[in-house]
Amino acid sequence: MSASFSVSHQFPLQSLNTFGIAASAQAYVRVTEREQLLGVYADANWAAVPKLVLGGGSNVLLTGDFNGLVLHIALQGRALAGETKQHYLVRAAAGENWHAFVQWTLAQGYGGLENLSLIPGTAGAAPIQNIGAYGLEIKDVFHSVTVFDPRSGETRAMDAAACRFAYRDSVFKQEGRHLIILDVTFALPKQWQPNLRYAELAQALAEQGIAAPTPQQVADTVIAIRRRKLPDPAVIGNAGSFFKNPVVTGAQCAALLAQFPTLVHHAQPDGSEKLAAGWLIDQCGWKGRNLGAAGVYPKQALVLVNNGGATGADVVALARAIQADVQARYGVLLEPEPVFI
Ligand SMILES: Cc1cc2nc3c(=O)[nH]c(=O)nc-3n(C[C@H](O)[C@H](O)[C@H](O)COP(=O)(O)OP(=O)(O)OC[C@H]3O[C@@H](n4cnc5c(N)ncnc54)[C@H](O)[C@@H]3O)c2cc1C
Repeated sequence: MSASFSVSHQFPLQSLNTFGIAASAQAYVRVTEREQLLGVYADANWAAVPKLVLGGGSNVLLTGDFNGLVLHIALQGRALAGETKQHYLVRAAAGENWHAFVQWTLAQGYGGLENLSLIPGTAGAAPIQNIGAYGLEIKDVFHSVTVFDPRSGETRAMDAAACRFAYRDSVFKQEGRHLIILDVTFALPKQWQPNLRYAELAQALAEQGIAAPTPQQVADTVIAIRRRKLPDPAVIGNAGSFFKNPVVTGAQCAALLAQFPTLVHHAQPDGSEKLAAGWLIDQCGWKGRNLGAAGVYPKQALVLVNNGGATGADVVALARAIQADVQARYGVLLEPEPVFI
């Protein structure tokens, strides 16, 4: 059975992307029930129209108007979906606000997501790039997703192996780009231990004199650190980290270190090395610099910002200039993290 859906035309998207870029969608549907999605895909009038699934718009760069149909995922609901001997299985509908969901899990007494506090966006988008921060990635606490496959018209569950999570990547950014996530389930440990792998987090807790933190204390500390370091999109438009940290071979890293001894790098379990993109950008003199209405955040070189009235083209021009400088100096190509639309 398909529920009716209501289409708006020439719909403004400025408040639906955290960069705050002014653009419009030819058509727009706010999806509050699964059946509405099925209805859109079953409707011959919309079959050939390009579609864009949008959550909180915190990981997209709108490079112009979208000549198609935006499906704004606003499915709501969160619940304890079950439990195993070791885990609580906690589920969020795709349109749930991520941070509000994390806070809710903590209030219910389920620790495990606290290191990912204050990441903007929706629960449904969290698996897309395997969101990560402060020593935790979604894949570490992931159980399954329910997806709608528009090609087959089927709804099915996918486990972690099927999602093929990697650093800021998953099957949903590769050959599963057409899949629409309807809900996400996390396996949160009954025997919770704080994850203090990230040195800055451990230090911030120690400075407060907290030796054995609760999940909420970890969350509060992560929130405080993030508020200090990152611009609030409600005040300055941005999409968080604009570039992924590039991964190079051990040999490439050694060669770079010989030339640039202060290079910031982190050894990976497979012998490769992750370089700090922010450091590379900073060294090229971009921190705090502007190009048109787009700029590099003065406190964090990895974040590109809209200083007011920037177009998608302004941000792209800035990103390209940074990429060119980093490539010329270090021979490393920075890959953007947000999805260009
Ligand atoms: C200030 C700031 C800080 C940030 N910090 C972090 C961080 O620490 N770590 C991190 O990993 N990310 C971070 N981000 C990036 C961003 O918050 C995450 O990637 C978030 O998961 C995006 O969610 P969203 O709902 O806004 O997705 P959107 O921007 O709406 O969409 C992103 C992509 O996912 C697709 N998509 C969205 N919903 C669905 C769905 N239900 N089904 C299928 N596809 C879908 C879209 O089509 C698009 O391709 C930050 C962003 C900002 C602005």
